[in-house]
Amino acid sequence: MSDVVHTKGPFIDLHAHLDGSITADIARKLADVQNIDIPWDDTQLVDMLSVPESCESLNDFLKCFEFPLTLLQTKRGISEAVYLVLESMEKAGTVYAEIRFAPALHTREGLTQEEVIEAALEGLNRAHIFSNLILCCMRGQGNEDDNRLTVELARKFLVRNRGVVAVDLAGAEALYPTDSYRQLFAMVKEYGIPFTIHAGEAAGPESVKAAIEMGAVRIGHGVRAVYDNNILNLIKEKGIVLEMCPTSNRQTRAVEDMSKYPLVKYLDMGIKVTVNTDDCAIERTDISREFEYIRSACGITRQQEDTLYYNAVDGAFTDEETKNKLRKLILQ
Ligand SMILES: [Zn+2]
Repeated sequence: MSDVVHTKGPFIDLHAHLDGSITADIARKLADVQNIDIPWDDTQLVDMLSVPESCESLNDFLKCFEFPLTLLQTKRGISEAVYLVLESMEKAGTVYAEIRFAPALHTREGLTQEEVIEAALEGLNRAHIFSNLILCCMRGQGNEDDNRLTVELARKFLVRNRGVVAVDLAGAEALYPTDSYRQLFAMVKEYGIPFTIHAGEAAGPESVKAAIEMGAVRIGHGVRAVYDNNILNLIKEKGIVLEMCPTSNRQTRAVEDMSKYPLVKYLDMGIKVTVNTDDCAIERTDISREFEYIRSACGITRQQEDTLYYNAVDGAFTDEETKNKLRKLILQ
């Protein structure tokens, strides 16, 4: 094993939100193509699109999505955003990405959820890197019909590669427990749609347990599973893939003390953990910087980086042919 560090990848990003990945540069381009006036200079724009280091919680963090969402309400805006985000990920060294978004959050100006998905697919098809889409259902109140429609559309558009490949559950985990979504995800399971669930980010191990019981094959974050060894063993036994996002986890206080970040512990246990960006614009990061960060904060070795890459290939919601191509890319 050589000591050469992958500064420019290849990287895989399994957990990236479209609305959280709108950088100032992308925001300007989206405003231009839609004739939307954004009067702010670059510093103001960056401040509007990013969270301050003083962020107190996941709930504070979630407020940052308001402005980028205003740029993602037309077919052109959505298509261009997916394309531009994938392009910027490619520049950071990403070779495979799964972009996630909640179709229901892009219907404020009259688009249907189906039109939102079609627009996103159009952007995806123009991108150069291997990529797929994950449709998010949202935690919340009174949006049950929206979530059911998202699941129906995931079923309609589901493919194994280059399209919609899975469903997710996102939003305020501390306010709306995972357990309340058993019925919805029974439907997802019945339809044979693979799914991941954000769990163990703002709530504890019981949230991760519920997500696994419901049939999630991946968990978004899973940081707080560390407080329960039984849950950790369950994650390991079932081969559940954890989509960890270090900078995001620090900023939302998913973990109080980054020196206790459980990434290395999970790796040592043989848990299939991966490293991802979550919301690169909101967090002012990219995948390459996430790896720099875990090298310095967690002392991740080159060998462990390779393990993270192979874990991500194993967990990717894509076909074997694509996975084999991805496995070869790290050997080059
Ligand atoms: Zn997320």
